[in-house]
Amino acid sequence: MREARAAWALCTSLALVAAAAAAPVAPADRVYRNGTVFTADTALPSAAALAIRAGRIVYVGDDAGAAAFVGPATITTDLHGRFAMPGLVDGHMHPLEAGRTLLKCNLDYASLTVAQLQRGVQDCLDRSSDKEPDAWLEVVNWFQESMRPAGVRTTRATLDALHTHRPVIVRSSFGHTVLANSRALQLAGIGKATPEPAGGKIWRDADGQPTGVLEDAAFAGFDALLPSPDPQQDVQAAAAALQAMNRQGVTSFLDAIGTPEDLAAFSALRRAGRLTARAHFAPPIEPKESGNLDAAVQRVRALRASYDEGALVAAPGITVRNAKLFLDGVIAAPALTGAMVEPYRRNAGTEAAPDWQAGTSRGPAVYFAPPALETVLVALGRAGIDPHLHADGDGAVRAALDAIAVLRAALPGADIRPAIAHDEIVAPADFPRFARLDVTPVLSFQWEKPAGDTLGLRDYFGPERMKILEPAGLLAAAGARIAFGSDWPVDALDEWFALKVGVTRTNAPQAPAEFHGRLGDDPGLSRTAVLRAATIAAAYELHEDDVTGSLQTGKFADLIVLDRNPLVVPAEEIAATRVLETVVGGRVVYTAPPLAPRSTP
Ligand SMILES: [Zn+2]
Repeated sequence: MREARAAWALCTSLALVAAAAAAPVAPADRVYRNGTVFTADTALPSAAALAIRAGRIVYVGDDAGAAAFVGPATITTDLHGRFAMPGLVDGHMHPLEAGRTLLKCNLDYASLTVAQLQRGVQDCLDRSSDKEPDAWLEVVNWFQESMRPAGVRTTRATLDALHTHRPVIVRSSFGHTVLANSRALQLAGIGKATPEPAGGKIWRDADGQPTGVLEDAAFAGFDALLPSPDPQQDVQAAAAALQAMNRQGVTSFLDAIGTPEDLAAFSALRRAGRLTARAHFAPPIEPKESGNLDAAVQRVRALRASYDEGALVAAPGITVRNAKLFLDGVIAAPALTGAMVEPYRRNAGTEAAPDWQAGTSRGPAVYFAPPALETVLVALGRAGIDPHLHADGDGAVRAALDAIAVLRAALPGADIRPAIAHDEIVAPADFPRFARLDVTPVLSFQWEKPAGDTLGLRDYFGPERMKILEPAGLLAAAGARIAFGSDWPVDALDEWFALKVGVTRTNAPQAPAEFHGRLGDDPGLSRTAVLRAATIAAAYELHEDDVTGSLQTGKFADLIVLDRNPLVVPAEEIAATRVLETVVGGRVVYTAPPLAPRSTP
């Protein structure tokens, strides 16, 4: 028997045969038929066909209905039963930074021993030996939480042992920690006498000397010393990021730290006709601006005035309708910069003979004091800007919800869409507040699995908190609208692995044995729920659900075609999903290389 499934590229052809001699409707530009279409529209959840005209969907339904839209110039694609769905809306990522990492010394999120870390950095130094003795080396995508053996510490001595005179910094992939060598600390003026910065931490040895590990605001000073990014290179980095997104099926994204450089790079692509995803930006408001929040909000408004293109049209554009505020760091050990309701536990024994007991540290104070947070949220709400709050620990989540309650009371009925990104641990009493206050949790599903970062918290959290770590299913059960955000480049961009983990809460089958099994007691999300999280729910978060996020007549034609049906394949196989075609506003922005024709003898 031979299965005649032609190469993907050959399925699309100009319909030279006029299917309907007297079509009752204007012909479509493109028609997709004979597919399994997941619409994310609860009124019509599945269909077989759809038609597109002028960048918008003009029909969703069965093949017979679609035939009426086929005219002489219509491009018809026979999906051969393949799965089509709305394009992915990624509700939280850092695309320019991600694109830039492709150009830097990159540790690729690997789980490393100290010796392997040293070898990786030394390789980069050796490859750029002409930069001795003074040029900075910036290393990225260090998976600090997965260093082997578990709990091993790195200090400036780790980097001082390398053969170089250059200042070296290594950035953790989580983005909240930097490891610096002694030369870098010295050039940045970080020493024994340096006071603790607000919103950060300098780790110190018994003598009070910096160990080289710096958290959040403590490493901000390096930015002025590192070579500033070149705008030309930034445009290249943004283009590379867009290509990577389209390959994975992303058609809209939120840049969750939308700096002027980010806006400039993506706007340059927009002007050149090379913007291939709807680009939303959340300019940051920093804790240090707490004393002058009016000016901070004014700055965001000015960026909006310069870059935002107004009402969305079929072709992707630039939108500035969010502002980003960090309320804490990360719960992951060893940083423990997540702000907690109850203290982290502490080891009262030694590393060899540990004795874990109730601790006293709840992590840092929430980076914005309540009155400042309330003031800035209300000011943003009045300006029509949605707050996008980073809150990782349950203390920060609670502070965010408390301030949003004040915002809701101050501006009742206003269409403001606050989002809380990460929510890695949430106090159960706060679960129902997301629905009550209409707050969208934006979750990175790929974290919801046994791995170095999650299991590394066992001792610090204790068993009860470990049961509810990464509470996507629990929040959903409490009525929350869950949205997905990859947080790329905190992890490699792998949307389909993330969606798989959202369902299974398991690591990849090839992960080490210690990471087998499910994470915690959370039930996880249904397959439909993860697809909705990465489409219509994230579109709601970004205030574009009236025109994207589902396949409905009148909406923009943002859709993807997949090589499998993620609603029915074995759950593990969702991770291997391949996107065959990505369409944004009716325009094909990505087509997979043709598949080899499948045949069986
Ligand atoms: Zn982020």
